[in-house]
Amino acid sequence: MKIVTDYPGGNAIIHEIKDNEVLLEQDLKGTSKWWFYWNFKVIDAPVGKVRFTFLNDEVVSPFGPATSTDGVNWTWHTDGFVDHTHFDFEFTGEKERYFSFSLPYQVSHFELFFDKIKVYPTVSRSVLAVSEGGREIPIVNFGNGKKDIFFVARHHCCESVASYVVEGAVYEVLTNQTELFENYRFHVIPFVDIDGVELGEQGKDRPPHDHNRDYIEKPIYNYTKAIYEYIKDKEIDFYLDCHCPLKWGRRQDEPSFYCRPLDNKPESQKFLEYITEISTLPDSAIKFKGDVRQSSSVQSSNGYFSDVKKAKISFTVETPYSGNLEQGYTVENLHQWGANLLKAIEKTLVNGEN
Ligand SMILES: [Zn+2]
Repeated sequence: MKIVTDYPGGNAIIHEIKDNEVLLEQDLKGTSKWWFYWNFKVIDAPVGKVRFTFLNDEVVSPFGPATSTDGVNWTWHTDGFVDHTHFDFEFTGEKERYFSFSLPYQVSHFELFFDKIKVYPTVSRSVLAVSEGGREIPIVNFGNGKKDIFFVARHHCCESVASYVVEGAVYEVLTNQTELFENYRFHVIPFVDIDGVELGEQGKDRPPHDHNRDYIEKPIYNYTKAIYEYIKDKEIDFYLDCHCPLKWGRRQDEPSFYCRPLDNKPESQKFLEYITEISTLPDSAIKFKGDVRQSSSVQSSNGYFSDVKKAKISFTVETPYSGNLEQGYTVENLHQWGANLLKAIEKTLVNGEN
């Protein structure tokens, strides 16, 4: 049995491989603190049960590991959950098997997504910036309007679930060609910290400060410099920065929002009302139950878009890594949540008063 991490998103330090147990830990590359992201591939595992034991604190979600045979399509292996430092997997002779902390979303996922959406009218992509690591940071645009709506993800690279939320919102506006499509110009940035995404880094509290604390007078990241330039002349009605919260438990198991003070922000209040209403309908898998907190940092992207750019509405949304359902979130659940966010935006900006 062999374990590798030399692929996009890979992350683990392997301590020991025994006959039926692997001792390992998450690699804390890209953070100055303890964090919990890991993602590895097992090759030529023997037929039978193998136990995976994590040596650096609790990093196995309540739904066990996410797992995949191809690195593209991932599901939760909840049956394998032993406790928050161990999971088991019964191998049946397969050549390769991937495991991760949550549902990964790499540049290859984005390319598959873009192949699906590029057939819709006005959809285009360009390069917003080139990262420190030489990677092109894509931006996707569509819509016929003049005012602007932004969806952004991965200021913290390990928060992969956020990217599926963005996909869901984009599918919603494109497949329904809603009024928003006619009245707005969309700007979708799937990966801020694209290097961290591909290198399998943690990204939260990256030293000297992470990408979501770079909205300062002299930013250090190429991305932030490029977005300052890009938004210079734009009138932004809606900015949504998509994140994941801490790993799990209590308020980490429900979606939540962060924003700057909402006094004199009637549209923001309306948006929160609408997303509560829409997401708590019986067929919604991911329900927003009112957890809104004021973000203190003006150096975050949400703070910058809100306080400096004076966006009409600006939020950070935190979507749990694994979920509070009977089973872990599926990509479909996350797409639906993204679509619901979009419906709430539409109701707020276009037809709320009807
Ligand atoms: Zn984050």
